[in-house]
Amino acid sequence: MSRIDFTALKALDRQDPLAPVRQQFVIPEDTIYLDGNSLGLLTHATQQRLAEVTSQQWGQDVISSWNQHNWVHLPATVGDKIGQLIGAEAGQVICCDSISVNLFKALSAAFSLLDARGEPRTERHQVLSTADNFPTDLYMVQGLQQLVGSQQCELVLADEAELLSDLSQHITKQTAVVLLTEVNFRSGRRLPMADIIAHAHAMGALVIVDLAHSAGAVPVELDSWRADFAVGCTYKYLNGGPGAPAFVYVAKRHLADITQPLSGWFGHSQPFAFDAKFSAAAGIEKMLSGTPSIIAMSAVDAALEVFESVDMNQLRTKSVQLSEVFLELLEQAELAEQFDCISPAESAQRGSQLSFAHPQAYAICQALIERNVIADFRAPNYLRIGFTPLYTSFEELGKAVQQLQDIMQTQAYLDPRFQARQAVT
Ligand SMILES: *Cc1c(COP(=O)(O)O)cnc(C)c1O
Repeated sequence: MSRIDFTALKALDRQDPLAPVRQQFVIPEDTIYLDGNSLGLLTHATQQRLAEVTSQQWGQDVISSWNQHNWVHLPATVGDKIGQLIGAEAGQVICCDSISVNLFKALSAAFSLLDARGEPRTERHQVLSTADNFPTDLYMVQGLQQLVGSQQCELVLADEAELLSDLSQHITKQTAVVLLTEVNFRSGRRLPMADIIAHAHAMGALVIVDLAHSAGAVPVELDSWRADFAVGCTYKYLNGGPGAPAFVYVAKRHLADITQPLSGWFGHSQPFAFDAKFSAAAGIEKMLSGTPSIIAMSAVDAALEVFESVDMNQLRTKSVQLSEVFLELLEQAELAEQFDCISPAESAQRGSQLSFAHPQAYAICQALIERNVIADFRAPNYLRIGFTPLYTSFEELGKAVQQLQDIMQTQAYLDPRFQARQAVT
């Protein structure tokens, strides 16, 4: 059995400027967590904040907390903090709802902008996305298409590789909106968004970027890319907690001209005037619908504190290093042949994960989990390894690969208890 060089891995940890950040997280005992791309870990700051929000704010100050503890402005203040991590100047990001709901609003807003520009839908009504985009993104377009009719909004799917190889064949004068996820959730492929946006704009199309696997994982520059809209979640690399509210970005240049149909009272210019007629807020608040989930959003707010001391380029450097080291370890352990890496070979074209195709991926993943190495599985047969530079160490990668090596050598994954699928995979 080939040996893993733990001395070298420990040396990398000693040289790692981000190593101390790990102390800010609650790390389950003896657990190697490689699934921060699905659900980020809890921070000590969040744990404390939730205690304070429930004991003091809700518990004692009750309804006055809307003003006293600034609950009413939380969606915008948290939105601005997220904005700093995704290259968005203040006033363009708001924290609310889920990606799915925000996507519906952003899509509708994009169409409202084209309408405001006097673009007839007879000529421009297609929403271009990729066939292997995260399904909820496609489902939401299908929902809008059903609501308004396919003459008004029509989903068109392209193969990701084909789209990249020839943008002008796919982005045409019929394209109203290009809807892409920057980092593919299965393959980890990272798209050249700045180029795609420039191309789409040249054709008169608008772009919505899904940052689910980008925010907090890779440097993002929405303003300088000239993105029109973006959505993203906070429970993956931003560590906001299960089901934490998502965010939506609208470029400042569009804010005055857009409308969105989920025009709830929190998106009103004066929610507490209780006027019967809707009149949208002037700024990014117009993307709000109903009352924000304050406890959940407070968790996000506190979770973002760890990023205050972190430079996103430094984080990216470690993320690339972690994934390169993982690939080397697979080679050392003589596992690289069996695990077909479906992520791009070039690190610049990847987000912060690696995916491997293996016919037994599900059972292998279950066997890893039983040994406290938490990775995840994505259908049909991918083992996903997420790298979260804020709390993953190089030594942990060595231990994880050692476990994988043992599972493969002993064929432990063949045990029937690893073969049965659970509800959440
Ligand atoms: C995780 C993820 C989502 C999740 O959407 P929710 O509505 O917030 O549950 C959406 N899109 C992508 C690309 C994702 O990775």
